[in-house]
Amino acid sequence: MPTYARMPVTFERGEGAWLWSTDGRRYLDAISGIAVCNLGHAHPAVARALCEQAATLIHTSNLYGIAPQDNLAAELCGLAGMDNVFFCNSGAEANEAALKLARKYGHGQGIAQPKVVVMDNSFHGRTLFTLSATGNAKVQEGFEPLVDCFIRVPHGDAAAVAAIQDQDVSAILVEPVQGEGGVRVPPDDYLPALRQICDARGWLLMLDEVQCGMARTGQWFAFQHTGIRPDVMTLAKALGNGVPIGACLARGEAAGVLTAGKHGSTFGGNLLACRAALTVLATLREQHLVARAGELGQMLLEGFRAGLAGNPHVLDVRGKGLMIGIELDTPCAELTTRALEQGLLINVTADRVIRLLPPLILSDEEARLLIDGVIRLVNDFTAH
Ligand code: PLP
Repeated sequence: MPTYARMPVTFERGEGAWLWSTDGRRYLDAISGIAVCNLGHAHPAVARALCEQAATLIHTSNLYGIAPQDNLAAELCGLAGMDNVFFCNSGAEANEAALKLARKYGHGQGIAQPKVVVMDNSFHGRTLFTLSATGNAKVQEGFEPLVDCFIRVPHGDAAAVAAIQDQDVSAILVEPVQGEGGVRVPPDDYLPALRQICDARGWLLMLDEVQCGMARTGQWFAFQHTGIRPDVMTLAKALGNGVPIGACLARGEAAGVLTAGKHGSTFGGNLLACRAALTVLATLREQHLVARAGELGQMLLEGFRAGLAGNPHVLDVRGKGLMIGIELDTPCAELTTRALEQGLLINVTADRVIRLLPPLILSDEEARLLIDGVIRLVNDFTAH
C-alpha cells in the first residue's frame, strides 16, 4: 500500500555510519533508521549474535520459558530501576501495553472511565489507541471515532497538568524529549513536577522513551537526566538495533496490573529479538557509548550553533545528546532531498525542524563531516 512517501534511493549495504545504495553511492547516515541503528549498520557483534541464535533457536512461544527474555528483562530493570517488563515488537505496541495498563490500573482505583493525560505534538504510534493518544491531527484524520479517553495539554507545561480537575485521570503519558513533534526538550524541572503531581493524585507517570531511550540522549534513559523514576516506561526502536522489539517496563503497583491472560504477543520477546537486545546492551556498555552520545551531542550542538550563529533564518539549535533539532523560520522538507543529493541522510519533522539522530558510534571525523554538510545545506537553502 502507498503508505510511505519514499525517497528515490534504495540501500543494499551498510557499515557503521555509512550506507551504500544499489547504484553504488555512499551516504553518511544521520538518521539511523529513525533512532534505531544506534550501533550503526551491520554491527559485527549484533550480526554474530543473530547468526548464532538463528542457528540454535529463533522462536518457541510465550507458552514456555525463554531464558534470553528473562535475562533481558533483568538487565533492563537493573538499568532503569524498574520491576518487570512486557515484551512486544514495536513502539506502538509498547505504548498500547502502557495504555491498557493505565486503563486497568484506573479500574482498580474505582474509576469507571479512566483517562490519560497526553501532550500537544506528541507521537505514540499508529494503532487506534496510540494514534488517539498522539497529538497530531494528520495522524488521526480519517480514523474517527478515536479512543475517547485523553486529556491533552501543552508539552513542557507542568502547570497545565496541575490545573486538571478531572477526577477520572489514572495516568500521564509523555515523551521526555519529543521526537516527531520537533525535537522538543522540556525544562529540567518538568518531569520532577509531573512526578510530584502523580504522587499526590495517585496517577501513574508513564514515559514514552521509544525514541529518546537506549542511550541516545547521553543517559541510558532520558528520565535519568532528572532525579525521578517513572511508574511505566516504553522502549522499542534502538533496543534491537534494527531487529524488531518493544518493551513496556513497570514498577511498584503498576508492575502488578497486567496479569496472566490480560495481555500477550506471539512474537514478543522471542529468542532472536532478545538476543539482539542483550547484545545491544552489552555493546553500549563495553564501548562506553552512553557517555559518548552525550559528548558527541555537545560537539554537534556547539558546531551547529557556531556555524549557524549569523543566519537569521535559524530560529533555534537544540537537543539532548544525539537527538538534535535545527528549527528554521520556513518549511524545509525539501532539505532531505538536497541532503540526499550530497550523500547525507537527514530528516525534517514538524515542517521546519531538521532532525538529526546519528548513530552513537560516529567518529569525530564523521561528526565534523555532518556539521559541515548540514551548515552548508542550511546556508544554501536560506540564502535563496
Ligand atoms: N513513540 C515514539 C516517541 C516514537 O517516536 C515512535 C515512532 O516514531 C513510536 C512511539 C512508535 O513506534 P513504532 O513505529 O515502532 O510503532
